[in-house]
Amino acid sequence: MTRDEIRELAAFQADETKGACALSFYFQPDPPQDRSHRREAIVAKDIIKQALKNAAASGKNGSLHADLDRVLDLATNLRGNARATAVFACSAKKFWREFELPPHIGGTHIYLQSRFQLKPLAALLGAQPALCVVMVDRQRARFFDLRLDVLRENGAIVHMLPRSASSYGYNGYEAGHAERRVAEEALQHFKAVSERLRANLEKGTWERLIVGCHDVNWPEFESHFHPYVKQRLIGRFSADVASVSNEEIRDHAGALLKQWIPEQASTKASEALEFAKGNGRGVAGLRRVLQALEGGEVQTIFLTENYSARAVECPHCGHLDAHLIASCVACGHRTRELTDVCDAIIPIAIRRNIELFYLKDHGGLDRAGNIAALLRFRSDQTTGQVAAAS
Ligand SMILES: [Zn+2]
Repeated sequence: MTRDEIRELAAFQADETKGACALSFYFQPDPPQDRSHRREAIVAKDIIKQALKNAAASGKNGSLHADLDRVLDLATNLRGNARATAVFACSAKKFWREFELPPHIGGTHIYLQSRFQLKPLAALLGAQPALCVVMVDRQRARFFDLRLDVLRENGAIVHMLPRSASSYGYNGYEAGHAERRVAEEALQHFKAVSERLRANLEKGTWERLIVGCHDVNWPEFESHFHPYVKQRLIGRFSADVASVSNEEIRDHAGALLKQWIPEQASTKASEALEFAKGNGRGVAGLRRVLQALEGGEVQTIFLTENYSARAVECPHCGHLDAHLIASCVACGHRTRELTDVCDAIIPIAIRRNIELFYLKDHGGLDRAGNIAALLRFRSDQTTGQVAAAS
């Protein structure tokens, strides 16, 4: 799933005046040990059949019925699927998109709204950094990116040793000389790999880093990291570059990422709340977050897991207001009420590349109105200072 595909979903709007509806369907597979029971596939079919009944009862037959039928077909064939599936459909606009997702999307659901329901997707994607995984030993390095459980290799460095240590002979001075020579080659190699990492970070190829290498090589390799690169390191796992499989790389890196995301979310949320009290680099509460969002200042949004709030939206200028006012303060148009302001916030966050973190247990965020944001500019300045000082 690419950023452009997600943006397309975020921009979609069904024509409600013609009774059209945007259908979003999420299928969460059973855990591996239960797969033979196909519980979730049965749940999925029940949910869709219920939606079909409701549609018939409310007289919404036509195009919605066609979409539901097609989703039901798909659900019928979801036997033992290991991956989660998401479908976004609106046959009135001949729109149908189907995606495979990592297997933790928080349940099987169907939504029929004027926009696609992107919360499960946002929870999954919003906090996913552009992740580089580098596998390194004393003469090789393989570079990968990992996105939504999909691992892609994109480059390698191989330092061919001109002569192996053994060819120098085994005794006395010669052997010692050969060892030093090999150590020198390894040092140059680690420097070259670190340099490639720094260059790619500056190009924007990646935002966060995970390293796989032998324990014995780690201290030396790490010692060549540029401070920039060091700041971006999520973690390291132990592996042998020559024999490790792509699945193993994906699993190790995925496990580190899964642990890192909530830790990162919690730390940054606390930071935002602290800033909100002091110097203005953070804001808390819906009203302030909406203002900052409108001002283009928001870098990261934090929401408690089940956050939902009513708000109004101006269909003319897009202004969002936490106060349920009848006419827009910006342009005077009649507003319309949103039962959940997240339905408007999430597409904006996706379109503007704003990080989105859902937090499970964060006392501070609960007390601050369940929504907060970290603002831009300052973190970039800090990075700039580090660069200038180094
Ligand atoms: Zn307006």
